[in-house]
Amino acid sequence: MNLERFPRRRYTEGRTPVEYLANFSRAVGGPEVYVKRDDLLGLTGGGNKTRKLEFLVGDALAGGADTLITCGAVQSNHCRLTLAAAVKEGLKCRLILAESTPGAYRPDAGGNVFLYHLLGVERITVVPWGTDLPAALAAAAAEAAAEGRRPYIIPLGGSNPIGALGYVACGQELAAQMAETGTAFDNIVVAGGSAGTQGRLLLGLRSEGCRVPVTGISVLNPREAQEKLVWEMVGKTADYLGIAVPVERSEIAVRDEYLGPGYTLPTAAMVEAVKLLAATEGILLDPSYTGKAMAGLIDLARKGVFPAGSKVLFIHTGGWPALFASQSLFV
Ligand SMILES: *Cc1c(COP(=O)(O)O)cnc(C)c1O
Repeated sequence: MNLERFPRRRYTEGRTPVEYLANFSRAVGGPEVYVKRDDLLGLTGGGNKTRKLEFLVGDALAGGADTLITCGAVQSNHCRLTLAAAVKEGLKCRLILAESTPGAYRPDAGGNVFLYHLLGVERITVVPWGTDLPAALAAAAAEAAAEGRRPYIIPLGGSNPIGALGYVACGQELAAQMAETGTAFDNIVVAGGSAGTQGRLLLGLRSEGCRVPVTGISVLNPREAQEKLVWEMVGKTADYLGIAVPVERSEIAVRDEYLGPGYTLPTAAMVEAVKLLAATEGILLDPSYTGKAMAGLIDLARKGVFPAGSKVLFIHTGGWPALFASQSLFV
């Protein structure tokens, strides 16, 4: 399937590496663990949103936009990367941040909040959790338009059919890497938030004829709700591309045992996973997504769900700058 017809900017040179984690695999015991280093994607700090933004910003520029408007949690990787893309393209960027508890946003916080300021965000609007974010984005765009701007709205997590193309492209890239190196993975593990990454990765792999199972570790929703979301993402993307759905409903697999008390709330297993990968491989995970997803991989390996001798690929979706807003968890 050819994605050439869609406007796209390039923020990463070539492909992200697939690496074998010898020390980490030995420490976990059981399967051989590999990682696809999407934490090394371009733009400030990398991570999965960079792939989505290649197509979203391509579309924004094609339409003549001069201001990107998006939203996220207080420590949002998506907001950081949208802002980074705006900086690179010479656009302005305004952010709407939803606070989980009143006062959760502190302008002097570390991690992504520090980077919003360092990268020169034009405006931050803080709203309570539960705010109708699509309405808040529309209001911010109307305000910008009234100031003579040409705003472009990017939805939460960049997870619309345009942003989706980024992970379809990743699925294709990965299928090519597997074919060239002759590496057949038995399972792929990826963190799941808005479910865009899991759904589109699956679609990209299947559209290349690659049948490897993909396990999503939910950091947001209970299993059934998340599986439904992944399935919807697959369907919407296939529609947008004008192709038949290349995925079976029964292939959508989500685990929710590693979510803990809720989205962005730490768990002991997440802390262990972050420390173990750092100490064995020098690779940084994040507390909200990849730390919990890796905690899932470790547990499934220990339980033999990923058996000894099998090959498991972890998609590192990034997020490590958020570590520097929660250092006290790890000391
Ligand atoms: C946003 C994000 C995810 C989740 O991606 P979705 O497409 O929303 O499921 C995973 N990992 C990191 C680090 C993220 O920032």
